[in-house]
Amino acid sequence: MASEALSSITLASLPAVSQGKVRDLFSLPDGPTPRLLFVTSDRISAYDVILKNGIPSKGTILTLLSAKWFEVLSSRVPGLKHHFIHLGPPSGTVTPDEEQMLRGRSMTVRRLKIFPIEAIVRGYITGSAWSEYQKTQTIHGLPQPAGLAHCQQLPRPIYTPSTKAELGDKDINISPDEAKAIVGEKYAARIEQLALACYNAGAAYAAEHGIIIADTKFEFGLDEETDEVYLVDEVLTPDSSRFWSKADYEVGREQDSFDKQVLRNWLTENGLKGKPDVEMPPAVAEKTKARYTEVFERLAGVSLEEALKNVA
Ligand code: ATP
Ligand code: MG
Repeated sequence: MASEALSSITLASLPAVSQGKVRDLFSLPDGPTPRLLFVTSDRISAYDVILKNGIPSKGTILTLLSAKWFEVLSSRVPGLKHHFIHLGPPSGTVTPDEEQMLRGRSMTVRRLKIFPIEAIVRGYITGSAWSEYQKTQTIHGLPQPAGLAHCQQLPRPIYTPSTKAELGDKDINISPDEAKAIVGEKYAARIEQLALACYNAGAAYAAEHGIIIADTKFEFGLDEETDEVYLVDEVLTPDSSRFWSKADYEVGREQDSFDKQVLRNWLTENGLKGKPDVEMPPAVAEKTKARYTEVFERLAGVSLEEALKNVA
């Protein structure tokens, strides 16, 4: 497996459509439906800034974990539609060298119109929700019971959307009513229903593997031809979710999460939070990679090497 991080991706064979903080999207020749090649780089962002160096294999971990989730959620959420078609590019669309570079970190997806909200679901109270609750006993403006402790499980999971900011801007927490105003009542209701169903199914699966999904962010898109709402983007990865170890969980304190915590701590301790062009030291990159790998292996039930071997 490559030990160098892959931070920038260019393909001579396919036109680039857009570049996000972590992913590069390429246009594919039209098949039965409009498609995109969704490529996940090893770039890592923290506090909304992309680090200069990446985390080797991170893009592979996020891609293979998302693929696993599309399979799990399809079987556990009745009526769920999702954008995943298959891993890798359609045959014959890229050169053999490009195919090698994309192996395990790319998927062919249905191209959809993305709703401009982030469908956040919280099962536990932490992060910005905990800060808000301490001030006003609300989460995204929704009243909550008194006496919740830090990281306590909520009486039931709640849907707490945010805006989807342009690159460089910050997402803003909004109430479900404000989300309705952005996407329209009909789609808002469907997004909320699907987000909660995907969270519940994902949380149940993760619990079987010793992992708590404290909260997560989904994105949804619309097939304008059929008017159907699809689950899109990455799904239930350590970039989009807070994962905690069930064995180490204790209510009333901060939890150690399987994500960028090592990197965030290093940035904060060194006064580099939110600064551009920061290069993380190899030890920080290694530790972060180990956290991502561990959660992948626990959830997928196979080693990363094994999972990669199974990719055609
Ligand atoms: P972050 O996830 O950190 O907020 P980001 O959203 O800017 O960053 P990436 O995750 O790097 O960007 O890029 C993925 C982009 O692809 C997102 O803008 C997402 O909305 C979009 N996307 C996901 N699935 C589809 C799809 N099926 N069709 C079209 N666009 C998609
Ligand atoms: Mg994203």
